[in-house]
Amino acid sequence: MRRVLVAGNWKMNTGREQALELASGLVEQCGEPGTVDVMIAPPFVWLEAVAAVVGGTAVQLAAQNAWCEAPGAFTGEVALEMVAEAGCDTVILGHSERRQLFGDTDELVGRKVAAARLAGLGVILCVGETREQRESDETDAVLTRQLLAGLEAIDGEMAAGLVVAYEPVWAIGTGLVATTDQAESAHAHLRKELALRYNSDVADATRILYGGSVKPDNAADLMGRPNVDGALVGGASLSVESFVAIIKAATGV
Ligand code: PEP
Repeated sequence: MRRVLVAGNWKMNTGREQALELASGLVEQCGEPGTVDVMIAPPFVWLEAVAAVVGGTAVQLAAQNAWCEAPGAFTGEVALEMVAEAGCDTVILGHSERRQLFGDTDELVGRKVAAARLAGLGVILCVGETREQRESDETDAVLTRQLLAGLEAIDGEMAAGLVVAYEPVWAIGTGLVATTDQAESAHAHLRKELALRYNSDVADATRILYGGSVKPDNAADLMGRPNVDGALVGGASLSVESFVAIIKAATGV
């Protein structure tokens, strides 16, 4: 049985005070271990301060990205070892904003995933099609390509604990949300690809999150589908009230 995971991606939002307030509000309401895993991904600069708030509670900490080389001459980048030392146990990789705005290619995402697993970090690997790709019936092919490239160097053993996030690009931050059928179909496709790449045990154990305008009023329907194992939440994770409402919706699944 896969445990539901609700992860909040704060993106490049929050000042220090808001970050700490959000984290403590969340710890107050979801700090005890429950039936749903809860994770937040603050900006790099607040990771350590947020780690001090969520440390020892059930709220897990993730980084939104990292660089794939060992610490060294990479001006402006943050190494996986550093995010681990700052208190993260997971890193989000391949987010569509990274792919579209910062040149994270399929190949680079694959290198980052491999380096993260070698550094002992959990990974949320994001994949998703653009509107044009969906309209030209390329969704499944795009998902397969991004998934397999992301997992290029990952064997069955390293795949343990991996999380995949299906995030249709057209639904991120737009208020447009995939229908539950669209989400279920994409998730089922990804699970089938995981079974082909590894085996049915890995496919059955891998959590596949949906991301793209998840809100308190659509969360339960999306997470109620058999292959949707939780949510990666952007905008609605910036308020304790709406993020907790999504976590509560997941609890009812
Ligand atoms: C995201 O950035 O991963 C995301 C899903 O954003 P939003 O919930 O705001 O669409």
